[in-house]
Amino acid sequence: MSPSPTSSAEAYPIGTVLEILAETYPTHPMSEITGCDPYKVLIACLMSLRTRDDTTFPLAEKLFKVADTPEKMVRLSLEDVQRYIYPVGFYKTKAVTILEISRRLIDEFGGQVPDDIETLTTFKGVGRKTANLVVGLGFDKPAVCVDVHVHRICNRLGYIETKDPEETEWALRDKLDVKYWPIVNKVLVRHGQECCKPIGPRCLECPVQAYCQKIGVKPAAGKKLKGKAKTITAKQPATMAD
Ligand code: SF4
Repeated sequence: MSPSPTSSAEAYPIGTVLEILAETYPTHPMSEITGCDPYKVLIACLMSLRTRDDTTFPLAEKLFKVADTPEKMVRLSLEDVQRYIYPVGFYKTKAVTILEISRRLIDEFGGQVPDDIETLTTFKGVGRKTANLVVGLGFDKPAVCVDVHVHRICNRLGYIETKDPEETEWALRDKLDVKYWPIVNKVLVRHGQECCKPIGPRCLECPVQAYCQKIGVKPAAGKKLKGKAKTITAKQPATMAD
């Protein structure tokens, strides 16, 4: 028997939702590209800001072949870094930032990436999203990495009611069992790219539609698609977004 949609008065089955999505999207491409090395996670995440993953990741792989540590990175010229990361969005500014961060890591931290969010956010260009990803993926410490996909889906599901990603991060830290923190970003980013898109979410194909209150989703998204709707179950590499 299908579960009935959750009312706001009931405890929300977020664990069930995340486990279904974790089966649907089992891998995290940021782990594959970076090997969960904190420096590579940091640089790849900076490159990915406002840039599609299919642009970012091949370029990050190319860059890491020549510079996978701060020491190697600062041996590159600004023009070299620009050339390696082109055409990620704002590549000129990001190249400056990558070199400045690498230099500061060497000068102040012995070439090691700090493992706490407060210190990381003192670095130029590093916001809470990036800092949380570095701490969570790079150091395997509790962190909640919230981007626009995580924010949008958590609100559509009806699990939380928040205005922006930062508020969502704090709401999840407060409400979500810490055992689910490592998978929130991994599964919701991919779900946001594949199914629960900002415009025209594919609700009829959604593996967690039975648990979703579809808050703020326009009725058109619930109409029958042409042909038979197929629930998304493909197990492809998960991706990371802004
Ligand atoms: S049912 Fe629709 S709104 Fe809800 S998570 Fe799935 S795609 Fe998103």
